[in-house]
Amino acid sequence: RTAARVVDAVKVYGSGDTAVRALDGVSVGFPAGRFTAIMGPSGSGKSTLMHCAAGLDTLTSGSAFIGDTELSTLDDRRLTLLRRDRIGFVFQAFNLVPTLTVAENITLPMDLAGRRADQRDEEWIDALVDVVGLRDRLHHRPAELSGGQQQRVAVARAFAGQPDVVFADEPTGNLDSRSGEEVLGLLGRAVRLMDRTVVMVTHDPVAAAHADEVVFLADGRLVDRMEAPTPERVL
Ligand code: ADP
Ligand code: ADP
Repeated sequence: RTAARVVDAVKVYGSGDTAVRALDGVSVGFPAGRFTAIMGPSGSGKSTLMHCAAGLDTLTSGSAFIGDTELSTLDDRRLTLLRRDRIGFVFQAFNLVPTLTVAENITLPMDLAGRRADQRDEEWIDALVDVVGLRDRLHHRPAELSGGQQQRVAVARAFAGQPDVVFADEPTGNLDSRSGEEVLGLLGRAVRLMDRTVVMVTHDPVAAAHADEVVFLADGRLVDRMEAPTPERVL
């Protein structure tokens, strides 16, 4: 079963002489219950693939699915709901709300969705707080946390609603290597211990080696797939 997939994905930015073919016929599935990394040089189409697979952007041709739902069949409202209810996001720039506490940031997507406190899986959120190691920081604000701690809050927020898939775009890009390792370990544990699905874009072989599988892009095409990667083999 794939949590997300694209079929014959083509994405062209602009038109005429200045058109850029960012995705040039990519078909790839991201299996449920696995941690998949998308690797490739700068400009190879990694972010475009992630954004189109996650319904943040639309393909020029081809199709993108979350589970069995083809994204192009959804109107804007349904697409927004699908992103909100079935997908989690982690970005390079943590994107926390500075005026809210850690606890409030974690449940923000659910609050925005109007999910009442009694409709939430408090046990899940409680377990998540322990997994990301933020129990003693719940009432702090983002500015009082290190970058690594802020990204761990963003990871907890991404998983809080028990999404079908979490997409992470260079989640360690703003972190020192130790904090980066912590965040990567967290993503790995969410997949293995909490039965989640993660798709991560990275250009860092050490980061990619945390995944179960790596897919490689070059010039908008899928050029390789590797199971059980190591940093040496990914390089
Ligand atoms: P990566 O994430 O691997 O660095 P991107 O998906 O960001 O690659 O970009 C792939 C190609 O598409 C690059 O040539 C980039 O310059 C181009 N591109 C990305 N976003 C846009 C955009 N919004 N408008 C025009 N070109 C873009
Ligand atoms: P960068 O990696 O270039 O620093 P980000 O990873 O923060 O930038 O954002 C990459 C893209 O994702 C941007 O095009 C932005 O519009 C989009 N984006 C960023 N944050 C969110 C969000 N919270 N929800 C939806 N889209 C977002």
